[in-house]
Amino acid sequence: MPVRVPVLLPYPFAGPFDYLCPPELDLQPGDIVLVPLNRRAELGVVWDESGLPDGLASASAPPVPAHKLKPVTARMDGPPIPRTLRRFVDWVAAYTLSPPGLVLAMAMRAHSVKPETVPVGWVRSGSNEAVARDTPARGRVLAVLADGRPRPTAALAREAEVSAGVIRSMGALGLLREAPIDQPAPFALPDIDHQAADLSPNQASVADTLGEMVRARRFQPVLLDGVTGSGKTETYLEAIAACIADGRQALVLLPEIALSSQWLQRFARRFGTEPAIWHSELGSARRRVTWRAVSNGEAPVVVGARSALFLPFPDLGLVIVDEEHETAFKQEDGVTYHARDMAVVRARLANAPAVLVSATPSLETLHNVEQGRYRHLTLLSRHGGARLPSVSAIDMREFPPERGRFLSPRLIQAAADTMRAGEQAMLFLNRRGYAPLTLCRTCGHRISCPNCTAWLVEHRARKQLCCHHCGHTEAVPVHCPECQAENSLTPIGPGVERITEEARETFPDARILVMASDTLPGPKSAAEAVRRIADREVDLVIGTQIVAKGWHFPGLTLVGVVDADLGLGGGDLRAAERTVQLLHQVAGRAGRAQAPGQVLLQTYTPEHPVMQALVANDFGRFMQREAAERRPGHWPPYGRLAALIVSADSATDADHAANALGRCAPRGDGIEVLGPAPAPLAILRGRHRRRLLLRTRRDTAVQPILVHWLHQWRQTTPSPRSVIVDVDVDPISF
Ligand code: ADP
Ligand code: ZN
Repeated sequence: MPVRVPVLLPYPFAGPFDYLCPPELDLQPGDIVLVPLNRRAELGVVWDESGLPDGLASASAPPVPAHKLKPVTARMDGPPIPRTLRRFVDWVAAYTLSPPGLVLAMAMRAHSVKPETVPVGWVRSGSNEAVARDTPARGRVLAVLADGRPRPTAALAREAEVSAGVIRSMGALGLLREAPIDQPAPFALPDIDHQAADLSPNQASVADTLGEMVRARRFQPVLLDGVTGSGKTETYLEAIAACIADGRQALVLLPEIALSSQWLQRFARRFGTEPAIWHSELGSARRRVTWRAVSNGEAPVVVGARSALFLPFPDLGLVIVDEEHETAFKQEDGVTYHARDMAVVRARLANAPAVLVSATPSLETLHNVEQGRYRHLTLLSRHGGARLPSVSAIDMREFPPERGRFLSPRLIQAAADTMRAGEQAMLFLNRRGYAPLTLCRTCGHRISCPNCTAWLVEHRARKQLCCHHCGHTEAVPVHCPECQAENSLTPIGPGVERITEEARETFPDARILVMASDTLPGPKSAAEAVRRIADREVDLVIGTQIVAKGWHFPGLTLVGVVDADLGLGGGDLRAAERTVQLLHQVAGRAGRAQAPGQVLLQTYTPEHPVMQALVANDFGRFMQREAAERRPGHWPPYGRLAALIVSADSATDADHAANALGRCAPRGDGIEVLGPAPAPLAILRGRHRRRLLLRTRRDTAVQPILVHWLHQWRQTTPSPRSVIVDVDVDPISF
């Protein structure tokens, strides 16, 4: 009776395919194998029979008769995919309604069909040794190998003073066998006693609690909050130390690993060595080394982007998500998942604590704390007596900038005073380029993207208009494309480039540095910019949201927010929460050392609850307000939400498909479908998009409802080929 094995391939198929297991292979779940698929050799993973959890498996196809199955070609050398990672892949697939193979692909990024060349050497096989000793040459070879260390042929021949032929013949006779030669461990073991911080009593008690949780080896989610600069990082480094001491591995997720130079330095200062790093731009060789080290337990600490969740930790003992409120944790293309939420799942499968860290926790996490699902640990004050910055709003109606300018006289004065005192100032505007809109003064035409519902953004340094959604670029036109008027096109509104131009005119002697993703294209340039600021080679920093990351600039005492209202427009229910989090984070860059900090918010709506919360530094009350607004309508986190994004090549096809989906929408107690309506970007990359939102009560699982809904729709409506429906469970905008 031939044995079938399910093999999951890293492609968007509905589930694993069956193959025949050749008797000599003895395959186990998790083994990485080479299998034939459409006459090509593909990598796959031997999967478990059980398949998807909790009845979420989609209807499986009838089994293929055994005589039609193809055999597995080979098992790849190297470590298998551990069980917890396989369970995690299944879980993410089921939760996000993604094909499991697509999720597996994220766990297989370090693999390729080309076999890895692992250096091998000879060791004693342990058999027939009496025979071997018959000749002195063979005896010398065995004596050299007595220490068990594998040696390549040439080295062994030299040491045993025999010819290479003797060794090869011993191999052929089965007296010797090949074994991989150990490579030096790629990551040094962090030294937990290298330079432990002298923690404050509050920090120490939080660190102790975290350490106990690590040693308990139980799943426990916990929110670690505390104002910016209170030492959250310093404290959770101690939890990592406890995890290393316990012999397990720790995973730290950062929202933007490319902008983490200061974090890595702090880690090195604390532990005397760098951790393993994981992100999508890692070179393929480094990726393989890191994957293998994680899998062998030789990478005690991994710091990475969201994809690090899919590494093969054999013994994960701690998961940390820093800046847990960051939207960068949401992956929007391919498998749509929220790395913060999936990190909690990963920790649960590993029986480890999950620590979510933020000065401005998301409403979801606060709700979980309130419900008693998450523990709550708080650091109460800034470290070393540093005070929180004072925040005030500048009412732009009262203190308007000069015509055609964007900085209020009050902000200019404060920046000048700061720099005169030998301190540093920062201007924050979350908008790249020169101007977000180009308008014709003659006919009123606004230049928009040919592929998207979006205005083109002028990038003056590059002499281009760019779409920030699809990447379309064109030269800045001389004539209005609509009415042909000459010299009539005017930039409207500011981007960082324009603020920089204004700042250079206003502060001609200041040393200015611009931090935006297009001026700092890689981790190296970002790290260098950060070093220059920290070393006080810069007086004035102007930047986009890059500057809001967890930087520690001791000389920075003034933060000016150029347009605090930006981000509050539009119909997104979450806009206020996100704006408060971002601005609080930017504000937190000011006054982190001895000199007190000051934050000025330029706003046309100083009475807005967001501005009030920032000025009063009362994040808690603001979130309660938000909660009160969302609760009655069952908006997240008080209900569940899933979005269906319907896209098609034409508006007619998109409407047709979206309306058909609307007609077979699920009904039931506590189930509600909103839409179809134009999606937030109604046209993106030439695709017309509509959105339907499914909203349910919190205790309802949305996945079975969605599966049924999509099934109904496919049954009843034939759709043009160009129609695609993307599912987004827990969308971050609504
Ligand atoms: P957070 O993560 O809460 O923003 P950090 O951990 O970055 O705070 O701490 C802010 C600054 O204070 C950092 O420069 C950090 O090294 C320093 N710091 C915090 N706690 C201590 C401590 N116990 N001893 C020495 N330095 C500390
Ligand atoms: Zn576009």
